[in-house]
Amino acid sequence: MSLACTSSEAPAATWTPPYCTIVAADMSDFCYLSCPRCDRALPDHAFVCAACSLRGATAAPARVYRLLVSVATHDRVVPVVLFDRAARVLVGCPADELAGLFAAHPGAARSAEQALQGEMCRVAMRTFTKGAVERFRAVSVVPLRDGFRPLIGTLRTLYGTGGRTLATCHALA
Ligand SMILES: [Zn+2]
Repeated sequence: MSLACTSSEAPAATWTPPYCTIVAADMSDFCYLSCPRCDRALPDHAFVCAACSLRGATAAPARVYRLLVSVATHDRVVPVVLFDRAARVLVGCPADELAGLFAAHPGAARSAEQALQGEMCRVAMRTFTKGAVERFRAVSVVPLRDGFRPLIGTLRTLYGTGGRTLATCHALA
């Protein structure tokens, strides 16, 4: 199936296994700063996008997802990068919000990794090469489990950050 190609990259075949199970997620480096106007990646702690500000247009940089997971298909385990649109399906909130929760709650990143493990999804992916290594990038993610709950909902339950309830977790030792 051919998809409308809106990027400047060479079109690549999309591979969609019947299902994928997330076997690992890396929350140590899950996002980067990006310009919301031009989508360029910006250096950490950048306050403006240099390219856009040269043209007199600025917008505050925002964190976007670049989440690395390992998924098991029926016959192999592959590393897959989830960029913003795909990652938001699983996480359920903007990357800024997840980063804030991680900053406020030590151990939350580890909890998030554990919560994603075992999640089953249908993942359409494309290969890309980085150096000599072939990697996969998710084009779309569809959770398959009945009663799927985005990650942020699970974390809010764990850490009591939903409606500022008194249920703040005191078990963090
Ligand atoms: Zn820009």
